[in-house]
Amino acid sequence: AAKARQCGSLIYHAQLDAGSQESLSLLTELRRAVEDDELRLFLQPKIDLQKGRVVGAEALVRWQHPQRGLVPPMQFIPFAEQTGFIRMLSAWVLAGAARFARQALDAGLALRLSVNLSTRDLMDQDLPAKIEAMLAPLQVPPASLCLEITESAIMDDPERALSTLEHLHAMGFKLSIDDFGTGYSSLAYLKRLPVDELKIDKSFVMAMERDLDDARIVRSTIELAHNLGLSVVAEGLETIKAWAMLARLGCDEGQGYYICKPMPMEQFIAWAQSWQPP
Ligand code: C2E
Ligand code: CA
Ligand code: CA
Ligand code: CA
Repeated sequence: AAKARQCGSLIYHAQLDAGSQESLSLLTELRRAVEDDELRLFLQPKIDLQKGRVVGAEALVRWQHPQRGLVPPMQFIPFAEQTGFIRMLSAWVLAGAARFARQALDAGLALRLSVNLSTRDLMDQDLPAKIEAMLAPLQVPPASLCLEITESAIMDDPERALSTLEHLHAMGFKLSIDDFGTGYSSLAYLKRLPVDELKIDKSFVMAMERDLDDARIVRSTIELAHNLGLSVVAEGLETIKAWAMLARLGCDEGQGYYICKPMPMEQFIAWAQSWQPP
């Protein structure tokens, strides 16, 4: 815990004063982390709630720090976003997810890999070409990658984000709105965005069994998504009861601790091959 606090405070100072010594040292450390191969990709399964099948996985990054142990993403992603380092990190995650999609195909599993992108990535006009160049040698179809974007990342500069997203969509990549319901997107944008999927934020899903309002929000989001021709994923699925409720409401996919916590990428194929729906 002391180690975690130490890391937390490092970032706290870095955010207070972007030019500070701490900030510089964290950036140096992150660069070194990539060079020294300290970043780890974890995968969390996505399940078809009607059929019980494993249909994909979300790639979630962790930092295996030599002194601090496994550092969770919230302790360095916000900093990486502020400093622009996120572009390098996203490229690393995308490359890992693409390689994994290839491995899974070779093992007879057609999985869709979801990768989180941030505002800075959407502002990068070269991103679509970079992703395509990554996938081409692996012969991984673009539809095996789903790019998750939060409403706030889009609303930072909606026109520019829209142009990148249209480009990515035209190339065949799947697009998903992450943490849906917690940001400031407008339905007018939702209508214009070339997205394929809405991901209901875990705060609603985790509360829906005891709070009627959350249950109504979940139900309405599923209806909204389906009325717009989008598929819908519930994250934060923690109980069998939540699964039953979501399946009854017609939710397409689910992801959460009830199914499995994020696991090191190397363990995923064996896990998926032995998965039995409850
Ligand atoms: P997110 O994109 O909303 O990812 C889902 C988070 O919810 C993950 O936390 C996951 O471990 C957690 N989660 C999944 N199922 C459950 C559940 O049933 N209950 C609860 N309480 N939590 C659940 P994680 O891995 O700590 O990631 C946190 C956030 O960090 C992510 O939120 C995402 O915003 C960001 N992040 C992680 N990896 C990356 C990355 O490679 N790139 C970018 N840009 N952001 C990332
Ligand atoms: Ca996500
Ligand atoms: Ca989310
Ligand atoms: Ca989140």
